Amino acid sequence: NGFTRRESCVLAVDVGTTSVRCHVYDQRANIRGSCTKKVSLLYPEPGRVEMDPEELWQGFVTVVKGAVQDSGLQMCQMTALGISTQRATFTTWDRQTGKTFHNFISWQDLRAAEMVRSWNSSCTMKAVHGVMKVLHVLTRQKRFLAASLVVFTPQHVSLRLAWALRNVPQLKQAVDEGTCLFGTIDTWLLYKLTKGSVHATDYSNASSTGIFDSYQMCWSGFLCSLLSLPLSILPRMADQQAAMFGECCFDTGDVKITMGTGTFMDINTGNKPHTSVAGLYPLVGWKIGSEVVYLAEGNAAGTGTAIKWAQEIELFSDVKETDSMANSVKDSDGVCFVPSFSGLQAPLNDPKACAAFMGLKPSTTKSHLVRAILESIAFRNKQLFDVMLRETRIPIMKIRADGGVCTNDFIMQLTTDLLGRKISRPAHFDMSCLGAAFVAGLAVGYWKSKEELKKLQMSDRLFVPQSGKGGGCKDGVYKPVLQSWEEALQRSMHWYS
Ligand code: ADP
Repeated sequence: NGFTRRESCVLAVDVGTTSVRCHVYDQRANIRGSCTKKVSLLYPEPGRVEMDPEELWQGFVTVVKGAVQDSGLQMCQMTALGISTQRATFTTWDRQTGKTFHNFISWQDLRAAEMVRSWNSSCTMKAVHGVMKVLHVLTRQKRFLAASLVVFTPQHVSLRLAWALRNVPQLKQAVDEGTCLFGTIDTWLLYKLTKGSVHATDYSNASSTGIFDSYQMCWSGFLCSLLSLPLSILPRMADQQAAMFGECCFDTGDVKITMGTGTFMDINTGNKPHTSVAGLYPLVGWKIGSEVVYLAEGNAAGTGTAIKWAQEIELFSDVKETDSMANSVKDSDGVCFVPSFSGLQAPLNDPKACAAFMGLKPSTTKSHLVRAILESIAFRNKQLFDVMLRETRIPIMKIRADGGVCTNDFIMQLTTDLLGRKISRPAHFDMSCLGAAFVAGLAVGYWKSKEELKKLQMSDRLFVPQSGKGGGCKDGVYKPVLQSWEEALQRSMHWYS
């Protein structure tokens, strides 16, 4: 394939919720070899979502070997390995034996939803908020304001870990004996890759757990003691990051929208963490050397999940049909879909909301249902974008989309119309992989600078707002549809007791 023995490449693996994939990238960021394996999700009880740690590790090894083989190169020609993972999915294991105490508990898992609800409405949290507000008034320090706005969500590790500590007896015992280690997927893979000698994570993953203090750049002693989480089991930190980096969203005001199993909309907020009232989460984007770049993130958990579900109940046989099905009808016939298979996230923040179709009629067809599902994904994008604009007040520079669902032209065009902004879709969708490759490649000098990386970007299509369609336009045909949909969201809230 034109390679000589001395040529080298960078490997990158993305552990998503749907699949584990590995690509081999050359100097021009072209993919030279790939391998993908499906992730098996386990649903042991309603609301619980788990993954087998050993199976995940074997899957990781398989795709790395498979991609290198596919490239026709040798493993020794790989100069660096970047790893990007779904965040906030964790397990715990024994320091000596490496044996896990339970399966990975996924970011989609709702077992801690009740604990989340009771903590968020507890007197303790109200008292904490009161004290923090006073400290903020006295010192004007934003970190006190941020702490006073702490709202737990089931997607964070925090209360799911508290659940495991309460309910898994061997885990409790190992914590008492000082032999327990905690890790998100990145930490687990690093531990396995180093045969148990490294127990570390990176700032970007740590900042997604809900127990990290982005102002102090360390685990939050305050939140850990509040929830009785032992600091001793948490990993130390190394540096790096993924999809945002792959999209080259390096500048303040750059936005990326990843639409995979869930939607993750991130804005680069520069060198300051963002303090949010509506539930945008401040994250560490990456730390490279002394440079720390922060992101504010809003997410919607039920994006690809809704598409997959619709396929499973045979609304269509191939996801590629959804675009033409949605366009085959002029509207959804008044049907609204609430994409809430794991609750509603910002700005409504209700883990107890249910997924729902509302407004069904005898005239409703499969195409109407599919259109309602696709519309709901674009509507959630609009909702998240509005919150982001309102709260951060940062001028938007560029918007880029990625993730499996962004191949859908209907969702992309409707999102573009509703946001009233141009959105570019890259030619290469596996942004998390590319971002991991970029960070790893920069670290070893394979690529020299972020400017060099920007030049490697290839855009597949630039979506431009079409007048008259967007919710932002005065005569926008979508305005009443959006209003009914928002009403549907309200009605689906607090469904589960
Ligand atoms: P993750 O990284 O979370 O595993 P991906 O980015 O791989 O997810 O996206 C996978 C999702 O994209 C699946 O739910 C799949 O159904 C959905 N998807 C793929 N192609 C399309 C399409 N043309 N239209 C809508 N959804 C699609």
